[in-house]
Amino acid sequence: MSFLNSRETKGHQLINLVGLTQEELSEVINSLGIPQNKSKMRTKQLWHWIYFQGVTDFTKMTTLGEPLKKKLSENCMISRPKISTEKKSIDGTRKWLMQLSDKSEVECVYIPESDRGAVCLSSQVGCTLNCKFCYTGTQKLVRNLDSAEIVGQFMAARDSYGEWPSPKKERLLSNIVMMGMGEPLYNYENVARALQIITDKEGISLSKRRITLSTAGVVPLIERCGIELGVGLAISLHAVTDELRNTLVPLNKKYPISELLSACRKYPSASNARRITFEYVMLKGINDSPGDARELLRLLKGIHAKINLIPFNPWPNSPFECSGKGVIKEFSRILNEGGYSAPIRSPRGRDILAACGQLKSESLRLKRKI
Ligand code: SAH
Repeated sequence: MSFLNSRETKGHQLINLVGLTQEELSEVINSLGIPQNKSKMRTKQLWHWIYFQGVTDFTKMTTLGEPLKKKLSENCMISRPKISTEKKSIDGTRKWLMQLSDKSEVECVYIPESDRGAVCLSSQVGCTLNCKFCYTGTQKLVRNLDSAEIVGQFMAARDSYGEWPSPKKERLLSNIVMMGMGEPLYNYENVARALQIITDKEGISLSKRRITLSTAGVVPLIERCGIELGVGLAISLHAVTDELRNTLVPLNKKYPISELLSACRKYPSASNARRITFEYVMLKGINDSPGDARELLRLLKGIHAKINLIPFNPWPNSPFECSGKGVIKEFSRILNEGGYSAPIRSPRGRDILAACGQLKSESLRLKRKI
């Protein structure tokens, strides 16, 4: 078999074991000459070392026999993206620029809260959606991340905090939001595979309930996401009319608001316990009037929803400004009165360019200067 995530080192390919399913891992073990009747046990042990213990050095895997450890060291690797920049905000937010094997870079952010902490993972290098208020859309290069690169971001973030072996409870890195660079539903297979690995009970074992996938609205894949992955859903709505949404989120021309909301109404795990989050970026004079808030209430009628009001995070030469504090508060009040929770997200990590795509663009700009 051939492995997509292999890397050439000293003239021969090392297979990266991160991102493989247990079945694929077992095939690798077989290919190293371990008999079929032993490979199941060895796979479980290896999985435990990689994803529960977080070990990257085969020689430290004490439960494996010497010959297997040697073969693994010669033929395989356990790799994560390389952290090329790390920025720490005064509010505890940490942001990394992670370099992949082809030297392209993605962003990954850790946002601590009092009782938990979310890691925001990227699903693509760049993004094809071109949402007008998002900095990532201004970057040219786009490709899908493979499952190793998605799981690897989380593992690299955890390495930074030394949070291995996987704690049973009270984790610093307790939640995942697929809200970094890229559109996760345009890279569904790799995202699905990565999340299956991350939720596996014998490894990292993060509960599905602690994972939220954010989409700009790739309608045909929303149901599949609910049935197969069972993760929380966040929708980047940002506008209440198709006319405005077509310009802010051009994907709306393909999947207009009515189709998007009807997919949300059918989302399998949408219940009171697991509300759908609607993200709404507050843009001064564009989408922030009391009338917009009332229209939002009308649109969301019957959906178990929560609305996150996100103050626009400006970037150099961005064509928008953030709505005023009072305007955002009034917007939130109207939604509350209509029966919806509508917290105003406090901007995090502003001192370290934590808005989507900012760190990467800064790095590209500096590189061009050199
Ligand atoms: N493609 C996915 C996930 C990436 S964007 C999606 O669209 O949901 C993650 C969130 O950050 C989205 O809600 C996006 O609209 C928001 N966002 C992007 N740039 C922003 C900015 N400059 N200020 C505030 N929110 C922003």
